[in-house]
Amino acid sequence: MADLPKVVSDASERLDRIYQILDVSDDVKERLRHPDVSLQVAVPVRMDNGALKVFPGWRVQYNTVLGPAKGGIRFHPNVNAEEVTALSFWMAIKNAVVELPYGGGKGGVQVNPKKLSKLELERLSRSYIRAIRPIIGPDTDIPAPDVNTNETVMSWMVDEFSQLEGRHSPAVITGKPIGLGGSEGRTAATGLGALKVLNMWVKKQDKNPEDMTVAVQGFGNAGYYFATNARKAGYKVVAVSDSKGAVYSEDGLDPDKIYQHKHEKQELKGFVYCDSSVNEEPETRQLSNDELLELDVDVLVLAALEDQITEDNANNINANLVLEIANGPVSHDGEKILLERNIPVIPDVLANTGGVIVSYMEWVQNRAGDYWSAEKVEERLTDRIERAASNCFDLAEEHELDLRTAAYLKAIKRLADAADKRGNQH
Ligand code: GLU
Repeated sequence: MADLPKVVSDASERLDRIYQILDVSDDVKERLRHPDVSLQVAVPVRMDNGALKVFPGWRVQYNTVLGPAKGGIRFHPNVNAEEVTALSFWMAIKNAVVELPYGGGKGGVQVNPKKLSKLELERLSRSYIRAIRPIIGPDTDIPAPDVNTNETVMSWMVDEFSQLEGRHSPAVITGKPIGLGGSEGRTAATGLGALKVLNMWVKKQDKNPEDMTVAVQGFGNAGYYFATNARKAGYKVVAVSDSKGAVYSEDGLDPDKIYQHKHEKQELKGFVYCDSSVNEEPETRQLSNDELLELDVDVLVLAALEDQITEDNANNINANLVLEIANGPVSHDGEKILLERNIPVIPDVLANTGGVIVSYMEWVQNRAGDYWSAEKVEERLTDRIERAASNCFDLAEEHELDLRTAAYLKAIKRLADAADKRGNQH
């Protein structure tokens, strides 16, 4: 047991519950406990001052029975082998939940990109691709953006790979800018997809978005697109935060105004909104990140990093529902407490799949050389994510499971079927 990845031991109770419902062979169970490939690399970067600095990096591929590995690359000081393995396992689950022809993949570099110049960031991105090149490719492993990486980073990466291969290879990386083979709708996809899943849940509960308040932790790409679209759909977004603090307004915030402020000041802190035609007092106040998590709202949306709700603070959560847009924001023990307190969690492996769904469409478009309209992309995203959400909600009801276990049930069934059909597990 000691050698198993932590993500597998954490999931073991859930998997045991699933194995009571599904007939899964011992071979498949054993394969699911280990990543297929786990590569650690040195990422050397020539810094602007002339010194060479080496950053540790990883790429992990987890269960590729359904197709090539797929998943993002993050640049963050806390990246390590265990985290990347967990993230790649979750990618394997989520790709199966939304029926994509992919296995799980994830990569990362242990670095604080905010301390790098733009040129250093470019050299880091290119160096990382040179290091993991032997295991990536359009048919083997297709990276994408994740925490602190964006379409500019993807451009450098796809350029580096194409130069090394000696041929234009847009399908090796998704999340590229539109001018370089990216897809319409990719940037907004994670936040928008999460909103579509939330809407399905709200409809199922016979509730109305107009009567619901929402707090959003995290104001990166996913958090912003979720918040702005949620407001358009009628929800009242009463609080948002970034890593430095949160803002709150009882009357609801306008995420676009906050986005503008963040763009100018690099942080949310200091955002004050006052409609002087109505009020003299500011309508917004500043909160700490912990205070945001403990707000009494209908929906608490987690769009930042892992382990934001754990056994330490799960008893202080006052929301009626938790929606996970980040990967792993509710810890295993934190979730147990929330569920005991009857606070359902719409899990990451369903709620944040909008990003990888549109990545898949980008890969398909690159391979076909045929590019689709924004309407077509959104229609296909909606269709796929709503189908998956409704499958998971039905499975949860049918087998009396929490939503995460229901999503895992769907995923493991697909993975096990594919593995059995392939036969020989060696
Ligand atoms: N990093 C995103 C995720 O965790 C997107 C992955 C992708 O598009 O391949 O789902």
